[in-house]
Amino acid sequence: MREIARETRCTHCEHLPVCSMKEQFLAAQQAVDSVQVNLADRTIQSLRSFDWIRPVELECVHFSRKITKRDLQSSTSGI
Ligand code: SF4
Repeated sequence: MREIARETRCTHCEHLPVCSMKEQFLAAQQAVDSVQVNLADRTIQSLRSFDWIRPVELECVHFSRKITKRDLQSSTSGI
């Protein structure tokens, strides 16, 4: 099965092309994504499988949002 590439915080950061921390950031997010929860009935469930708990998305303090063509078009069209 082909895995779908997931967008991350880094995807939308203007520092991405030159960032030396992106691999650590993505590894940290991967660690959060793979957390397993031990339940009272002795089963183990992936934290991501609880559809009533919002996924934890880490935030990098150095994040700087990349300006896209769409942003520029929205600002000129008044939307
Ligand atoms: S500064 Fe932070 S959010 Fe931006 S690319 Fe680097 S690790 Fe990712």
